[in-house]
Amino acid sequence: MGSLFEDTQKLLDNALKHIKISGDAKTILTNPKESLEVSLPIRMDDGTLKVFTGYRVRYNESMGPTKGGVRFHPGVTLDEVKSLAFWMTFKTAVVGIPYGGGKGGVIVDPKKLSKHELERLSRAYIEAIYDFIGPDKDILAPDVYTNEIIMGWMADQYNKISRTLTPGIVTGKPISTGGSQGRGEATARGGFYVLDELVKKNRLDPKKLKVAIQGFGNAGFTMAKILYEEGYNLVAVSDSKGAVYSADGQLCPECIMEYKRKNGGVDAIYADGRVCDDTCHEHIANEELLELDVDILIPAALENQITEMNADKIKAKYIISLANGPVTPEANEILFKKGITVIPDILANAGGVTVSYFEWVQNRAGNYWKLEKVNSKLKEYMVNAFHDIASIVDKNKIDFTTAAYIHALKRISSAIESKGTCEYFRK
Ligand code: GLU
Repeated sequence: MGSLFEDTQKLLDNALKHIKISGDAKTILTNPKESLEVSLPIRMDDGTLKVFTGYRVRYNESMGPTKGGVRFHPGVTLDEVKSLAFWMTFKTAVVGIPYGGGKGGVIVDPKKLSKHELERLSRAYIEAIYDFIGPDKDILAPDVYTNEIIMGWMADQYNKISRTLTPGIVTGKPISTGGSQGRGEATARGGFYVLDELVKKNRLDPKKLKVAIQGFGNAGFTMAKILYEEGYNLVAVSDSKGAVYSADGQLCPECIMEYKRKNGGVDAIYADGRVCDDTCHEHIANEELLELDVDILIPAALENQITEMNADKIKAKYIISLANGPVTPEANEILFKKGITVIPDILANAGGVTVSYFEWVQNRAGNYWKLEKVNSKLKEYMVNAFHDIASIVDKNKIDFTTAAYIHALKRISSAIESKGTCEYFRK
């Protein structure tokens, strides 16, 4: 296995076997436009000064301002942020919204910080990357271990520095400061709309389908709630500390979240408990969850979860990649040969950035939409993207991941080519 960023290039190479784009477009897409590394000195509550490292990468802006979340995680690296920014570039193109791709991250275990330290870190991050971002240049959003409270602090800090009120600099904000209805649930809801189309296309009955979800953050938990309401059989869920399993598919996501929340105070930013605090169900290891005999497997945590090491052991028939990069290109190939359908991240989790786009549009218009309008427009974007990609799958007899990259590449390369390529100068 190469680095994460080397893996992203394999995704591009696979798609390029099926579509011809200008050499210039390919060259541009193999490198990020700009990468920034910053040091964030934070005064801790005990008076000491601690320095955290942060990154922001603007991968490509051919289709519009770069767009993407900020991750707070101890495992953040520049290689990871570059890869996440690459995926954002293709994700925005898959759904056809006028953005390029960007991403940010800070190396930190946010659960070890107090709320005040976390606020200082969020504000320091904006302070440090201020010149790199803007509502028409690079727009931030939540990602792993960041949420609407943190987005609110970041937007506020941008406004303080710029002495303006610029809500369009950050999406995923609290509703009271310009956030959109439906943004909190959007990643999972978008993934559900895609799954629903897949279920209809394959004439399946949700009530007979067993589902396992890896990850119980915003995306995983919300997806679990939606599927529970829709009558799917939820047999397993997990978080970073372990998994719970119920053979009869009777897991109740709200009850499990209740156990997780029990340890956190009312103002806690993160749920401190573990899904395994739910004592009513069997406990299994995280790796076991991935290999369960289920119909649908939903990785909704981090990248590199299904690799060439465990792809052969996967029994699910459908994989919906709600996380970014959970299936490596090698694993994707093995799964395709086994007849397993993988709906890639750049389609399955594009609902988050789609509603971020709606939020940005509402901020700029100063006109706010009802939840019904947000969700019906989200559905329209997700269903269209699914069918565009499914028709490439059916026509070329290829996997959904390669088809999604082909679909996105058509849009991105035409934007790059319209700005002039070497072919133009040769004429
Ligand atoms: N972090 C989310 C993602 O990976 C959302 C990005 C956004 O809304 O800009 O898609």
